[in-house]
Amino acid sequence: MKSILKLFSLLFLTFAFGANMEAWKPQLNKLSTFEKHIIVDKGTERAFSGKYVNTTDEGVYKCKVCGSALYKSDDKFSSHCGWPSFDDAVPGAIREVPDRDGRRIEIVCATCGAHMGHVFKGEGYTKKNIRHCVNSASLQFTKASKKKVLSSNLKKAYFAGGCFWGVEYYLEKIPGVKEVISGFMGGHVKNPKYKEVVRKKTGHLETVEVIYDPSKVSYETLAKTFFEIHDPTQKDGQGPDIGSQYLSAVFVSTPQEKKTIEKLIGILEDKGLKIATKVLPKTPFYSAEEYHQNHYVRKGGKPYCHRRVKRF
Ligand SMILES: [Zn+2]
Repeated sequence: MKSILKLFSLLFLTFAFGANMEAWKPQLNKLSTFEKHIIVDKGTERAFSGKYVNTTDEGVYKCKVCGSALYKSDDKFSSHCGWPSFDDAVPGAIREVPDRDGRRIEIVCATCGAHMGHVFKGEGYTKKNIRHCVNSASLQFTKASKKKVLSSNLKKAYFAGGCFWGVEYYLEKIPGVKEVISGFMGGHVKNPKYKEVVRKKTGHLETVEVIYDPSKVSYETLAKTFFEIHDPTQKDGQGPDIGSQYLSAVFVSTPQEKKTIEKLIGILEDKGLKIATKVLPKTPFYSAEEYHQNHYVRKGGKPYCHRRVKRF
């Protein structure tokens, strides 16, 4: 009976992995017992235990078995779920198959069939709305050369215009903007919690960090959009949100940014608007808790106190 079971499981494994994994036997033999458990037996490493959970370096994540490039660091995001998470894969590098559990979708290397993890859709973590949840043990990371890191050259800009959910929502739609993070700036408390900011004990303003590619979108375009998606004349907050954490402000990092903002404020004042927006020097930025990020993408709906008004 035991041998029949063994035969059946062998047959099952052959079907499940396809014949292509057999061709990688020399590479498979080099794996550790644990790596085999993940890659061949489709195991799952413990949450937060893998070596690439928090990696943020620029580079490429390759298949541990066949070396194919599977994921780029540009597509990695922080999901706080305990495994490396990507919202896209190298085109054609990953194959999706129904999991044996009948519920999830398994992902395997399209070249060699190595088990990667699972893919989840519609969770709202990022704009692409997809999460490849991958075992670190299935991957081999290759760091990009320094030259490439420098040429990527992304920049950051900081705007405060009331409830950050709405500011994030609109600024994320601008082509050339890679990511917008909701957080806090301008106060005196390190790593503030949202609750502390609401109690007005930190001096922080709800602020977004805009990560953008200056070769695709200018700082001026970002700033103009900022002035058009909130009311820069409101002195005590934004819309129904009244209080110091909702004030309108731009935190500038360079004299050029300051000049750009002052120029735009001048244009608006020439049009008769009395601008309340403060121009402040950049101070440390603190990300808000995960449940504040991508609020409208995750929850649906539209911002309650931000809308686009043409002003330039
Ligand atoms: Zn592979």
